[in-house]
Amino acid sequence: MHHAPFIGKNFSHEYQTPAEPAVICATLQRLPNDIEGVAISQSEPGEARIEKLGVVIRLKFCAVAGWTRVITSGKSCALWAWYKVLAILHPILNFRRADCAKDISAEKHQAKKPAVSVWKVVSEFMDDPQKSRHVGFASKAIQQAKDCVYWDGEALRVILERLYFAAQRMREGGHKGITRDTFFKKYVNLRGFRAHISNTQATKFREDYVAEHNGKEILGRMHVTIGARHNEAGCMSIHFEFCPDCQRIIIIRCGKHGRTYHS
Ligand SMILES: [Zn+2]
Repeated sequence: MHHAPFIGKNFSHEYQTPAEPAVICATLQRLPNDIEGVAISQSEPGEARIEKLGVVIRLKFCAVAGWTRVITSGKSCALWAWYKVLAILHPILNFRRADCAKDISAEKHQAKKPAVSVWKVVSEFMDDPQKSRHVGFASKAIQQAKDCVYWDGEALRVILERLYFAAQRMREGGHKGITRDTFFKKYVNLRGFRAHISNTQATKFREDYVAEHNGKEILGRMHVTIGARHNEAGCMSIHFEFCPDCQRIIIIRCGKHGRTYHS
């Protein structure tokens, strides 16, 4: 029987997280508080080392379309230490194991695949119990997503993943003491975020921006508009609010742009 030598073997894992590289680095800096004798060093951006008594774990980060790929490597004998670290990082960064064999060229190839529909993205998102625990859709928004003809579902997916990240942080109180602008733009890195709608939208066209959630009418002020073309296939908007009762981000509008002063 063949015995593979254990000592000297290396491990290499690939993970995905919705957190930005800067957030990952900030989280790593907390490790010395949780594990005694751990030191974190960063030789260059996009790289970090976790060291403790003969254990060295290397991390490399790479931001990809709203996600960060994290590659960790080290000697097999350091794997237990990595799992200990992972147990601390995961609740904050929501690390997901990614396919180790997948390379950058495969990702580029995927990006050229035919566009996926808005409804496919929304239904997949809602089917994920972990995500649904943090981000919910008002039934009105679900119907809008079904009717939506916006071409680039992947762009919506990026936004929903950012909102999933945001909702987890908000449940921990991460948005407290800072403006929504700072939280969503700087911390969550939600591109195109707007904290408010216009007075005309909130009054004259109010019905476009409200939905019922848990028996209450919620006005979706925070929003993101994607695409720029003034037709249904070239533009959509996502309006949302944080519900303090269920501690979730509720999507109030998800589809063709609502009426504005200009319409
Ligand atoms: Zn609620």
